[in-house]
Amino acid sequence: MTDPVISFDPNTLSPRADHFIKGRRREGGEGAVPVHRPSDGVEIGRLHDAGETIVDEAVGAARDAFRTSGWASAHPLDRAAVLHRWAALVEARTEEIARLESATSTRPIADTLGRDVGRAAGAIRFFAESVDKIEGSVIATAAAANCMVVPEPYGVVASITAWNFPLINAVWKSAPALAAGNAVVLKPSELTPYTAIRIAELAVEAGLPAGLFNVVQGLGATTGSALVRHPDVRKISFTGSTGTGARIMADAAATGTKPLTLELGGKSPQLVLKDVRDLSPVALNVANGFLANAGQVCTAGSRLIVHRSMADELVSRVQALAAARTAGPTWQVETTLSPLVSERQAERIERMIAATVADGASIVSGGTRVSGRNAGAYFEPTILANVAETSVGFREEFFGPVLSVYTYEDEDEAIAMANHPLYALAASLYTDDARKALAIPKRLEAGTVWVNAHGRQPGYAHPQGGFNHSGFGREMGRAGLEGFLRHKTVWLSHG
Ligand code: NAD
Repeated sequence: MTDPVISFDPNTLSPRADHFIKGRRREGGEGAVPVHRPSDGVEIGRLHDAGETIVDEAVGAARDAFRTSGWASAHPLDRAAVLHRWAALVEARTEEIARLESATSTRPIADTLGRDVGRAAGAIRFFAESVDKIEGSVIATAAAANCMVVPEPYGVVASITAWNFPLINAVWKSAPALAAGNAVVLKPSELTPYTAIRIAELAVEAGLPAGLFNVVQGLGATTGSALVRHPDVRKISFTGSTGTGARIMADAAATGTKPLTLELGGKSPQLVLKDVRDLSPVALNVANGFLANAGQVCTAGSRLIVHRSMADELVSRVQALAAARTAGPTWQVETTLSPLVSERQAERIERMIAATVADGASIVSGGTRVSGRNAGAYFEPTILANVAETSVGFREEFFGPVLSVYTYEDEDEAIAMANHPLYALAASLYTDDARKALAIPKRLEAGTVWVNAHGRQPGYAHPQGGFNHSGFGREMGRAGLEGFLRHKTVWLSHG
């Protein structure tokens, strides 16, 4: 059922991983890092590592634009108007952006065209609508004084993103920061450097003063680190792995105690209670929960905890749904199982599975690459059982299509299993009992708890973020905007 209108030839695109500074694309930087297409491993370009010099130029441009453009001091409705035009431009170029994203990342064209670009435009619009709702407060004082708490932007915000949803990640990091009046320097992942520049270009086309949204390309250890350590950066917003988040905390602490928002990894449970009568919607949620984007989702529901009496039936339903997925290139509309981002990631997952099996786990299904493919890192939906708590398969994210199944007899035991000792990003609960649906989320340690659903729901107002090793701070919703504002206390004495 190939749809020739939606499927496309990725070789017709020639993306360039330039930097984007002061409203212009800019080449330059160190070395030439090859960028590969996840779907077939073909090298599609090279990027030059910005390093300290170009990072300094981008931060300087952002600092100057913040000081001189009048963006932060403009009427909120004027800022909102620019953001609305930006959203409209993104929407008007849906097909172009969807193709660019799909040709250069793990996101299939049916998803980028049908969801990601629309959600990117929707998120920009959500923050455009929030600009004139930013409020401070007035604190009670004696008659001879007034005390106001006034929200204001930080100045230059550094944003660093992961590769799994390059477009959405770039928008979630830039739109609220700009809505709050800041200037942004964004470093996308070196694996997916392309859509962020296009998004920044469209913001400038929409009327955003040049220099307020800059993009630097490069590696984490050099360009990312230079950005974190830059003395003129006032706030850092990071999405990526827990290990990198910890390094960024150390660098930020060593160079100015910069405030952070950290959106890190997860090992999210999907807990199925014995009272569930119909397993078919549960199976669909569980399958989507670990297979969307081939499991390369921070909130992937990678641990299924199911009552022993229903485990066999649920697992076989999930297996059937997994088997119905079609692994294939991101530019074909029938693809429903994404490639892994890189050969390196496929090798990492293979190593993790081998080590977890050596520690006593058994492979229920999958466990290998999709056969018959010699290019592109496609991995079979994989189900593991008996994963020991001491094994790497329990302690670390696979970040691939791997589900570990655990069974229980006792509900308290199940809740204890759901709460991971390290990660606490999201958790799902499936139950038909309204009282349990209200009571058990209070006992689940996670930044988000879904009941009878898994994954973000439509809309932009729900904050997302983690506890413990999954990070702190929130993205999206009102909290997402607040994360880019700091509060000044103004005391007036007039007695
Ligand atoms: P990563 O930590 O390897 O890299 C993320 C970004 O950090 C990249 O741009 C990278 O270049 C940069 N970086 C690396 N070292 C750096 C350093 N020392 N200083 C500054 N920047 C540095 O993560 P990844 O492999 O790109 O992404 C996968 C991870 O992201 C997973 O752990 C996933 O759970 C997490 N993630 C979390 C969320 C969330 O909202 N919680 C969303 C998406 C992805």
